[in-house]
Parts: sequence; C-alpha cells; structure tokens
Amino acid sequence: MISPPPLKKQIFMTFFRGKILRVCLLALLFVCLICALCACNKSSPRPAFSRPIYDINMTYDAKAHTIDAKQETLIPLPEKMTEDYVLFNLYANAVAGVGDAISVSEVKINRKSVDFEICGKNNCFLKAPLLGADTLYDICFEYSVNVPEEKLRLGVSDGVALLSFFYPSAARYDGGWRENEYLEIGDPFMSDCADFYVTLKTSPSLVAAASGEVSPMDDEDGVYEICAEGVRDFALAIGDFEVAKKDIQVGGRDVAIKYFYSQDEASDATLSRAANAVEMFSQAFGDYPYPAFSLVQADIDGGGGMEYGAFATVSPSERENYLDAVAHEVAHQWWYGAVGSDQINSAWLDEGLSEFCTYYLDFLVGDRKKYGDAIKDISRSYSAFAQDLRPAGFSEKMERPLSSFLTTGEYVAVVYKQGALLFDMIRGLVGDKKFVAAMRVYFEDNKFGFADKNSLISAFKTQGYDISPILAARL
Ligand SMILES: [Zn+2]
Repeated sequence: MISPPPLKKQIFMTFFRGKILRVCLLALLFVCLICALCACNKSSPRPAFSRPIYDINMTYDAKAHTIDAKQETLIPLPEKMTEDYVLFNLYANAVAGVGDAISVSEVKINRKSVDFEICGKNNCFLKAPLLGADTLYDICFEYSVNVPEEKLRLGVSDGVALLSFFYPSAARYDGGWRENEYLEIGDPFMSDCADFYVTLKTSPSLVAAASGEVSPMDDEDGVYEICAEGVRDFALAIGDFEVAKKDIQVGGRDVAIKYFYSQDEASDATLSRAANAVEMFSQAFGDYPYPAFSLVQADIDGGGGMEYGAFATVSPSERENYLDAVAHEVAHQWWYGAVGSDQINSAWLDEGLSEFCTYYLDFLVGDRKKYGDAIKDISRSYSAFAQDLRPAGFSEKMERPLSSFLTTGEYVAVVYKQGALLFDMIRGLVGDKKFVAAMRVYFEDNKFGFADKNSLISAFKTQGYDISPILAARL
C-alpha cells in the first residue's frame, strides 16, 4: 500500500519549520532521503532533493468538464541566476488552443502572494518574480481549467477525459529559462523529472488511471491518492473504463501493468503486448524504473498514442497499428521518459529511437523476419516520400527544430521513419550485442536527466565505435 500523504506533508512541513534556509534545506534533504528509502516507491529513482516536487490537490467535475486545483511546487534553482523570475509553462492554454483554458487566480512564492504575468503565444507562460536569492522555492498556485470537448491531449471525448498538461509546469532551467512556445507539430514539451503527489476527487462512478501508483479509490467520496516519482510529467484519464491488470517482475521487483479501455475485444492481448514490451525493453536496455505502467485507450486526433511519465495513451485504430502504437509508447518510457532529450530541436532522438524499438521488439522476441520486413517497408516508404518531394526542396536533415517542418507528414517521415532507419543502420554496423550494450550505457548514464547526440556518441565509444561520422552525415 502506498503512503504519499505522510511523505508530502513531511516535506512541506520541514520546509517551513525553520527560518534559516540552509537549515531547512539540510532537514529537507534528510527527510527526503529517509522518505525515499521507506515511502511509497521503494525503488525511488533518486533519493536526494534535486528535482521539483509537485503536490496537487484537484477536483475533476465530470459533468462540467472542469478542474479546480491547488498546487504546491518545490523547485530547486541554481545559486547564481541572472533572471529574477520563475517561469512556468501553461501548456493547458496551448494544447487546448484557446489561450484561456486555465485560469490562475493566485500565485504565492514562499507563502507571499505575488503579482504574476501570463504571456507568450496562446498565453503559454506564467512568470512570477523571485523574491530573495534562495536555491529552493515554494510556489503555490490556485487555478481552474476548462477541459475542451475535443480529441486533444487535454480534452474529453467518447466519455474519456484525458487530463494531461493541465497544471502549471516548471520550465526547464539550463543557464536560462527555456521559453519553448507551443507548436502544432510534434511534442513541443520539455521538463525535468519530478515527483508528483496528487489527491484527486472525482465522481465515484468513474475510474481514474494515472501516472504512478494509484491508491484504491475511496468509494464514498471518489478520492484517489496518487504517487508518481521521477516522472517527466504527470497525466491521468477518467472514464467508465474496463481494467485489465498484470504484475510482472523487472529486476527482482514487481511492476504493475494496467490497461484501461472502453472497447477492446482482445484486451488481454493488448495488455500482454504492453507487459511484454516492458519486460523485453528492460532486459535489453535497462530495468523499467517505475513501479507501475498504465496504458489508456483514449482517442487523440492525428496521433496513434501519446507518452507520459509511467503512463501512455493509445488511440483506437486497426489492430496491427494499435499494437505497434502500444510498443512505441512503451519504448518512450525509456526514450523521453527516463532519458530526456530536446524534443523541440532533436525530436529524432526520442521519436526515432522509439519508432525503431516498435519493430525491434519483434527482433527481441525472436521474430527477426518480421523486424526485417518492417524495416524494409519503412525504407521503401521513406524513399518514395523523399524522392517525390526532393524537387520541391525537401530537407532530409533530422537535427532541426519542430518549427522547420511544414507538415506532420514531413515530420513523421524525417523524424520517425528516417530516425528508425538510422538506428537500424547503426545496429547493422556494430552488431546486435554491441548495439544493445551501448544502448544500456546510454540509458544508465542519462537516466532521469537529459541526453543529446553526444551522449549517444559517448555510449557507443564505450563499445569501441565512433558513430559521430554517421550522425554527422545523417543529421
Ligand atoms: Zn512517439
């Protein structure tokens, strides 16, 4: 049984008990260390407090399609910052495409109300002044969200509420705030791994699926306690779901695989596909780092599925595509989830690799012919696409910003298909044993952080291969 409330209460109480920040910080570190050893996730990826902590208390009204939330976020910041403000992404405004999906009524920093600014295209940023020069800030928000009735990453359709990107999310700070405006193509999101402790209240007649571990619902009140540690973002879905479950063993510990669906005549096979992918990718690349994985059937326009921390969606589609989407989204738990990368400027790194893994899963289970056939198909379709568009100036360069792609078709061809072919080419050149060994190094060295092409080059160097000329030629 999980116990998130004691953990989060200890963390926040510890933070405010004393007035001297350094004492607070030491106490906080100690509490976090102890909590990490004994709290809800016994295999917590990182014990020290060096990443954001989100405490969200939210109510979802399933009739009005609204969220009301109070959120407390602890964020560590560098000692020397030139900026005197903190930046949060209001992805809700951008994803819903209306600019006013989220209404923030109050922001407090270290318990003091502050004036804040909402700015950027589609009102996608919130800026608030940093008072003092601390390295640890407590930032509280009160907000409400109108969830649109559309097939979006934040939307309600076919009786399923997909609630992702609904909360103010700390922007990434790497020598400056990353002001990444939302784009229609790709996944223009970038965030540090964080710990989420969420209390959700909703209709008792519905089922909630979420990132991380979800406590059994209190039937009378419809209240769930959710704990998701070390995830890059937090998402949930609420609906009248059927649920299929399976516990698997990864690295000597249990991982709960859950599949929430509305219509699937082969639900056991879908669940097995997800469980098998978690097992096989764990064996190949390194252990799945979370105690649970939830897959949700939710329709998103223009997308076969969407990845989130320890959680993914899959859109209804023809069976073979559906199972491919399941494998693809599970692969993202390694590439994007645990190993983050710049999804705005180097989307090939997580998408190309996850697309490669979609088919490599067949190779890993022993069906080399199916894998080989899939790669040949991708190669043929990519070549035809490129040949048709080369006269029109089609660029095959992979390392480029999402804003440079004119259409989703171009983005998918260059980033997914050519990305998958790149990884297959490297695999073919170095051999499977060295390829898998290098990918294990890449995973282990960059787990819960960020990787780039140099991280990939370094990983292959440990196996005696310099792939930089290949990347230079293809990127
Ligand atoms: Zn993907």
